[in-house]
Amino acid sequence: MMYWLRLVASFFGGSVKAVKCGHRSRKSGRISAFGDSVFTHLKANSDGTLDYCLACLGKMAIQCSLCKRAIFVGDPIALYHGTQASAVIVGPTDSAHVGCMFCTDSAANHSGFWVPDEDGKGQVQRILNGFERALLAPDC
Ligand SMILES: [Zn+2]
Ligand SMILES: [Zn+2]
Repeated sequence: MMYWLRLVASFFGGSVKAVKCGHRSRKSGRISAFGDSVFTHLKANSDGTLDYCLACLGKMAIQCSLCKRAIFVGDPIALYHGTQASAVIVGPTDSAHVGCMFCTDSAANHSGFWVPDEDGKGQVQRILNGFERALLAPDC
């Protein structure tokens, strides 16, 4: 009995509350999805809590619309145009679909990061990619 209590205590030792999903989680560990896994360190909030636990972050992973590689929360993403079955589409206005950085031949196609949204799903946090920055740059 005591053995199990200690085991449970050691398992939960060092875990903190993830406020958005309500689970407890360690701050670092392995998350896996689609047969892929990565070791990750979660960034804690200022009060020491986390937003989401490792398991919930794993569920937010998506697959690259081209190579099916897992894209985890925090991963850089590229946006691809054209029709692609079962692709994750970005937003109502942007018809691009989400792919990994391994599928692009240009670092300028780095268009954002895959991040958690308020509903516990993933979403694209857009950044200006290299092509867009070039368009906005003043001519000189
Ligand atoms: Zn959770
Ligand atoms: Zn890919």
